[in-house]
Amino acid sequence: MKASSLIEQGIKREQPCNQRSGEGESTMPRYFIWTIGCQMNKAESQRIAGYLDAAGHQATTSFSHADLVILNTCVVRQSAENKVSGTLGLLKGLRNKHPNLRILVTGCLVNADTQELRRRFPYVDLWFKPGDYSELISWSQKRGIPIKQGVNLPRAFSPCALIPIIQGCDNFCSYCIVPYRRGREVSRPLGEIVCEAEELVRRGAKEVTLLGQNVDSYGHDLPGHPDLADLLNELSNIDDLLRIRFLTNHPKDITLKLIETMASLDKVCEHLELPVQAGDDDILRAMRRGYTVERYRELVHTIRRKIPQISLSTDIIVGFPGETEEQFERSFTLVRETRFDVIHVAAYSPRPGTIAWREYQDNIPSDIKKERLHKIEELQTAIASEINSQLQGKQVEVLVEGRKREKWFGRTRSNKLVFFEDAGDWLGQLARVQIEKTSPWSLIGKVKK
Ligand code: SF4
Repeated sequence: MKASSLIEQGIKREQPCNQRSGEGESTMPRYFIWTIGCQMNKAESQRIAGYLDAAGHQATTSFSHADLVILNTCVVRQSAENKVSGTLGLLKGLRNKHPNLRILVTGCLVNADTQELRRRFPYVDLWFKPGDYSELISWSQKRGIPIKQGVNLPRAFSPCALIPIIQGCDNFCSYCIVPYRRGREVSRPLGEIVCEAEELVRRGAKEVTLLGQNVDSYGHDLPGHPDLADLLNELSNIDDLLRIRFLTNHPKDITLKLIETMASLDKVCEHLELPVQAGDDDILRAMRRGYTVERYRELVHTIRRKIPQISLSTDIIVGFPGETEEQFERSFTLVRETRFDVIHVAAYSPRPGTIAWREYQDNIPSDIKKERLHKIEELQTAIASEINSQLQGKQVEVLVEGRKREKWFGRTRSNKLVFFEDAGDWLGQLARVQIEKTSPWSLIGKVKK
């Protein structure tokens, strides 16, 4: 799981919105989806938006303009949970002012037993488990909102589509809440995923990112046990699909077959999210990760040998219970030696109900956690700065995803974020960009025509 790449955003559509319906010109119900957390949440929010669009709702750009608010939540860390609680507090005030406002909550805050949540937040109209759209549909239908099962693709055009391929996780890493909230692994049938990708490509998508908490587990629960490599082979046959990505991999499960398949298929991008979490074997054992540091190093070596252009991202947790200075230094050394392209570093926070919460004392003071976190971040900033500076003056291929601050932006195959200015319409196009300026986080260049 990419635990630390938090996003926080509304799903936006093109319609301008100035007023809540019933208070002004438009009578179309308006909705706003607030999303925080991983790419899986982002994909699920897009799907909810698809249902609501198909039912005739209009997207709006803020809570205050909406008749229906959906919070897609994350509780993977305390900081994310605090944001969710703060937002629920804000909505209480809004609901008091506008009693017709409807509030729905999904994502990893929602556990199997919602009684306690209903007691704490009585103004929430519906709690539904992540990915459980049947709850959303029956709630809507009871209120005369004609949402239909099967209308499952967002209408908004995006050249880069997200496709969940497996829900849940069977791993039970000791610090992680995900298996308790998203349940055990359930793979989507291979044919269904291929059909969805074909449909998205017909609508203009050029790239698909396959999502799962552990994509290496894909297919073990399906008849015939297809795996991720089989799925990549099938998707590669879709004519107008240019790029395929996937995340997140698990170092204990990723196979040589997958690495070799990646190396052999032109459409599969040279980028992997491979969370190591710690550079010390005892900490990895306490985390129940199922590999050693040596095994991880060998894996990175194999991947780099087979796919020399690979860019690697990882996640690190600092301040896990009992982490000594020496153990932290091993994580630091691993980061220095491996030279990842991107690191998401997080300070450990106990998640109620997990094994680590039950069995270990959260005994690393928060100032030490912060110090360790900053030390890794500082090191990584220097490494990413060096890696990216090697692209100065080079030409890269960018799939353009949209505009931000008057510039076009998109990503290279290796997942580097690139900005450029141009008056033309580049949305969904592949642009060749000459890099003129680099930073640890992004690149700026000029498009070559
Ligand atoms: S239990 Fe482990 S593998 Fe599963 S989502 Fe959590 S961190 Fe990822």
